[in-house]
Amino acid sequence: MHVQPEMRFYVEIVISQTIFMSFKSLGLSDALLRAISKKGYTTPSPIQAKAIPLVLERKDVLASAQTGTGKTAGFTLPMLQLLSQQPPLRKRPIRALVLTPTRELAAQVYTNVKEYSTFLDIRSTVIFGGVNAKPQIATLRNGVDILVATPGRLLDLHSQKALSLAKVEMLVLDEADRMLDMGFLRDIKRVIELVPKRRQNLLFSATFSKDIKKLAQSILHNPVSVEAAPENTTAEKVNQTVYRVDKPQKTELLIKLISEGNWSQVLVFTRTKHGANRLTKKLIAKNISAAAIHGNKTQNARTKALDGFKKGTIRILVATDIAARGLDIPLLPHVINYELPNVPEDYVHRIGRTGRAGASGEAISLVSAEEYEYVKGIEKLLGEKLPSEEIEGFEADPNYTPPPKQQRPQRSSKKKSNSSQKGTSGGGQKKRNNSSSNQSSNSRNSNTKNSRSRRRRRD
Ligand code: AMP
Repeated sequence: MHVQPEMRFYVEIVISQTIFMSFKSLGLSDALLRAISKKGYTTPSPIQAKAIPLVLERKDVLASAQTGTGKTAGFTLPMLQLLSQQPPLRKRPIRALVLTPTRELAAQVYTNVKEYSTFLDIRSTVIFGGVNAKPQIATLRNGVDILVATPGRLLDLHSQKALSLAKVEMLVLDEADRMLDMGFLRDIKRVIELVPKRRQNLLFSATFSKDIKKLAQSILHNPVSVEAAPENTTAEKVNQTVYRVDKPQKTELLIKLISEGNWSQVLVFTRTKHGANRLTKKLIAKNISAAAIHGNKTQNARTKALDGFKKGTIRILVATDIAARGLDIPLLPHVINYELPNVPEDYVHRIGRTGRAGASGEAISLVSAEEYEYVKGIEKLLGEKLPSEEIEGFEADPNYTPPPKQQRPQRSSKKKSNSSQKGTSGGGQKKRNNSSSNQSSNSRNSNTKNSRSRRRRRD
């Protein structure tokens, strides 16, 4: 249809007014609306639409929001509005504290805070471990209204009297489930003792285990619960597939999928740091640009790898669960589970890296016989069956039986799978085994109970 130039102008004005109104209807100030429009957001995401008005009413909020739903703006925008409504205190004590489990997530939340406060007189900073504390201390001494922090560095600098939490009015626990998984419960409790009793609390979590509910009960006062997506479900537009394949053939299958699909940006998950290094080396040897991101890497190496991945100079980012947590890579098209996590909730987090903010994505799991039990756990959590296929030339050996599990305490399994390498040519024909079918979602949370006891510190 041909649209007259004047008409197009009119249409654009109408559209931009609609956009402006929909964020405005949440009660956000003009300064924030300008910042939002600069970011290019059109409409509030469901979690934003639900959480923002409640936070503005100074309610405690318990939000169930999976990664990629826009939850950061869901708490940052109203926080900025509330803080900017009062004139800044002379010495700029910390009035809002955001706790995150990982350095990357802290850096990301801080970036968002900076962007949304462009037109406000609000000072903020971020502190996390793995980097020199001196510049962080210097910034804190000048005073900040908002502090984004990981628990370890926060307590460290507090014990050095580099910061005070005595004037905190708002406390945000972001990705609280991951904080518990990473063993931060004690640190969180210590932080709670350092902040004033009267304060507003916001707790965001992708999954809701009993432990999280218990934590919420002990921290939040009469919270309002909001939910952006049903508990423990995966992003709607993610196509999930399991490829059954023997362990020794995984690398070749991965390379085939990447090369034949001509994929330019793939996040690959391994279970261990050493596994991530090994796979990265193999990919580089095949001239596929790759970098590993995990807890043994320095913060600089992690930042460099992530930047390269975002810019497109690194095609494959190989990550462990904890390192990848909180990574914001908009519109990531492909996530591959080179190995499945033994904790089903991690699967949800992993594939939350694709299909972000409403875009569609693909999550592929390369599953060997050793991991079939993990598939069952994931399906139970999701309340649905994952479609399972084989790629011609990479079929799993039906007679293969996984070696018995090794006794702990071995840190890494030296024993290799005993199945032999197969031919790898193959035309790539898929053999579908079963199709996805929705089952009752009642079983979603039934698997969360023992997840923490099953978890190993991998990062
Ligand atoms: P988060 O869940 O906060 O990590 O956000 C995931 C991604 O969605 C980030 O890249 C945000 O910049 C983006 N985002 C947040 N809110 C919106 C919105 N209302 N419209 C479009 N994108 C958004």
